[in-house]
Amino acid sequence: MSNIEQTLSIIKPDAVERNLEGEIKEMFKSNGFQIFKEKKIQIEKAEAEKFYKVHETKPFYNDLCDYLSSGPIVVMILQKENAVKANRELMGATNPIDAVDGTIRKKYGISIDKNSVHGSDSAENAKIEIDFFFKD
Ligand code: UDP
Ligand code: MG
Repeated sequence: MSNIEQTLSIIKPDAVERNLEGEIKEMFKSNGFQIFKEKKIQIEKAEAEKFYKVHETKPFYNDLCDYLSSGPIVVMILQKENAVKANRELMGATNPIDAVDGTIRKKYGISIDKNSVHGSDSAENAKIEIDFFFKD
């Protein structure tokens, strides 16, 4: 049975800053993702805190929110069969050192914090995150 899903992807400030937006989008497209919606924005720290609220007790939370709000980001709704899992696989492990060949984080990630992309981790969170950025 077909299971076309949507997931939220973010090209993070470290990648936008290095002009990797085009190359990363090409990786999504060549892996069968449709970019259903996209926008380039910069968010306030308060918005980053809301977006990453699930991590609020983590030691890296403050730096993470500073970082996500530090420069332009590209937020996208990606669509594909089993998009949530497929995107997590294409992104690679959180720490680029652990990411396997062919993944975005292996190719472009600088460090565990500057790891170039965000992707929703479940279908439920994908809906919440898509609404967060694209609810009109
Ligand atoms: N992060 C960090 N230090 C850590 C773990 C995570 O800076 O020790 C950052 C990193 O940018 C990561 C984000 O926090 O992408 C969210 O963490 P999560 O565990 O949800 O990883 P992801 O889902 O992005 O792979
Ligand atoms: Mg996560």
